[in-house]
Amino acid sequence: MIPAEFNYHAPTTLDEALSLLDQFGDEAKLLAGGHSLIPALKLRLSSTGHLIDLGRVSGLSYIREDGGRLCIGARATHYEVESSALLRQKCPLLAECAGYIGDVQVRNRGTMGGSLAHADPAADYPAAILALEAEIQTVKSGSKRNIKAGDFFVDMLTTALEPGEILTEVRVAPLTAKTGCVYLKVLQPASGFAVVGVAVVVTLDAKGQCAKVRVGVTGAASKAFRAYDTEKALTGKTPDANTIAQAALQVINGIETSGDIFASAEYRAHLAQVYARRALAKAVERAAL
Ligand SMILES: Cc1cc2nc3c(=O)[nH]c(=O)nc-3n(C[C@H](O)[C@H](O)[C@H](O)COP(=O)(O)OP(=O)(O)OC[C@H]3O[C@@H](n4cnc5c(N)ncnc54)[C@H](O)[C@@H]3O)c2cc1C
Repeated sequence: MIPAEFNYHAPTTLDEALSLLDQFGDEAKLLAGGHSLIPALKLRLSSTGHLIDLGRVSGLSYIREDGGRLCIGARATHYEVESSALLRQKCPLLAECAGYIGDVQVRNRGTMGGSLAHADPAADYPAAILALEAEIQTVKSGSKRNIKAGDFFVDMLTTALEPGEILTEVRVAPLTAKTGCVYLKVLQPASGFAVVGVAVVVTLDAKGQCAKVRVGVTGAASKAFRAYDTEKALTGKTPDANTIAQAALQVINGIETSGDIFASAEYRAHLAQVYARRALAKAVERAAL
């Protein structure tokens, strides 16, 4: 349980962190809350020659509204997301999702940027980030990128982040009128990680029909995904119980669900359908309020 030796760096600015990444290349890893990386280093599932701690880098821990978007700095902790009055009012899905992560210690140290960059297939945020069609901003020496959430999660523990790139900010649109959102999950009792988690954002039109439906699913497969068939099955329809139930059955269309010691692939597929149905019904109920 002792990591292999590494050099520790504590930059205080983003530029300094970027130049350390440039200097040490593949030999370097970024450290945020440490709640995924430190256990991996201790178990020697991962190793690094140079650990670059983002903890003292100023200007990455904010949650604010800017240019019509809600902007969350990469180092905002799960607790800060959960308790943000701005997010609770304008994008309650992120706050609800953060409140479901791990336990108090994990939520106090773990960060949104670290969680997204780590891309654990059982992490909670990816479902919400996909359903919200968020944008992920990154910086690398000399360049900046905006990555759409749909392009960000590539595979298990693999994202679109390039070597030397730092995730700096997540941007989402505030929810519009007649929009309801929810995150529901079946959790592993020991860690809290999602066996299956479903995030839904639904907007109703003046007739009470679904104008827009977005469904993100985590835990069920090697990476989080959007359930496009479910979304299509509900769009333009009146979301009664039967229509929702039929749409929810399509949530794992085209997806190879994963099995492990916590749940078989078949059971995960079943849970995804059941939780999609419940989440859709709840989001519609909230949208109608
Ligand atoms: C007991 C326990 C229970 C947990 N339960 C849950 C749960 O229920 N749900 C859930 O979603 N998660 C859970 N987690 C994981 C937790 O949310 C972690 O905090 C999160 O996965 C990683 O965030 P971090 O800030 O700790 O990142 P770190 O562990 O510091 O880093 C994780 C990875 O991201 C990279 N990284 C970090 N920041 C950046 C950045 N800004 N740019 C680019 N790369 C970066 C690091 O190099 C590393 O590879 C749990 C963890 C523990 C220990």
